[in-house]
Amino acid sequence: MSTNLQVETIIKTTDKELRRIGEKILAGERITPEEGLTLFEKGTLPYLGALANHVRERRHGNKTYFNRNFHIEPTNVCVFSCHFCAYSRVYAHRDEGWELSQEQMLNIVKSYDGKPVTEVHIVGGVHPKMNLEFFIELLQKIKAHRPDLHIKGFTAVELDYMFRKAKLSVEEGMKQLHAAGLDSMPGGGAEIFHPEVRNVICADKVDAEGWLKIHETAHREGMHTNATMLYGHIETYAHRIDHMERLRQLQDRTGGFNTFIPLKFRNKDNDMSHVAESTIVEDMKLYAVARLYMDNFPHIKAYWPMLGRQNAQLTLSFGVNDLDGTIDDTTKIYSMAGSEEQTPSLSTAQLVSLIRQVGREPVERDTLYNEINNFKDVDLTMIGQDPSLN
Ligand code: SF4
Repeated sequence: MSTNLQVETIIKTTDKELRRIGEKILAGERITPEEGLTLFEKGTLPYLGALANHVRERRHGNKTYFNRNFHIEPTNVCVFSCHFCAYSRVYAHRDEGWELSQEQMLNIVKSYDGKPVTEVHIVGGVHPKMNLEFFIELLQKIKAHRPDLHIKGFTAVELDYMFRKAKLSVEEGMKQLHAAGLDSMPGGGAEIFHPEVRNVICADKVDAEGWLKIHETAHREGMHTNATMLYGHIETYAHRIDHMERLRQLQDRTGGFNTFIPLKFRNKDNDMSHVAESTIVEDMKLYAVARLYMDNFPHIKAYWPMLGRQNAQLTLSFGVNDLDGTIDDTTKIYSMAGSEEQTPSLSTAQLVSLIRQVGREPVERDTLYNEINNFKDVDLTMIGQDPSLN
């Protein structure tokens, strides 16, 4: 049975409302917030999976993207106190955390000299002494050392604090960082936008409007960014739809988002340990609805260190077409937040093999999704030997 026939058959076996929504999606029409809610409330796993996979393959075929990147986490000292965070240390207890100097961070960059990484991802806590000037200097030093390295850095939460402290408008602050070498922004800090949830889980950091303004400004400055959603804690389906709707509207205005990344809430070592984590079935439904709802987002990414390798493989049948990167580093954010992967690092050969095991086509991309290498038919033993594939 062809994919089209399969998905049409599955849609026909469901109730009237779901059938109508399914037909809209197959016709390439946008679904409304009410219809998105219906998908969460009534959509079965096979129904959502079939539709999301159809949309994913309509856009990307079998391709599954990854990139070769490394992370720098300047500090885990943070002026904020998000209840789900197992990573940060308050300023008064900063001796329990870490604070990297510019030299230490530059040495991390230098340790990748000669290696085929294309991106450095810089995010961390919000340290009161690491200000705009400090990061402008850091960006300039990294660019001077390795101009070809794409610098993706700073969540809207970090930037909001930096700009306010420097008494600069978002526009001026973003211009300065861009000029210093910042190429794009990650999507962190979005959590759940709706104040009913945000005021409970992370009341003291930038609100939804502030987060969206920073991303809109980055887009207008010519930079691409990503967007996340921390799901599976106290939010309702309606809060998830509200979150995705706000992002979809901004994307309609600017087109500056590359990727939507749902992040699973983990309950280890934080103030929300009493909140149960979502099940794998709920995770897969969320990925599928995200693919169906975010019709103007080119890519849906699963962050494999958070989900675990096998669950990340599963997402590739539920709308996901990107597995992030090799993350060849010492990333602490997710290992400290109870992620499935205690040592979040995969070699390129391991990541390629993970993607191939579920019948997908591994494609290395750069940050902006330009294709670098297609690993569909590459002999895995050649990775590491052929310099172009290293
Ligand atoms: S989630 Fe980010 S902003 Fe919130 S406490 Fe943790 S490091 Fe700070």
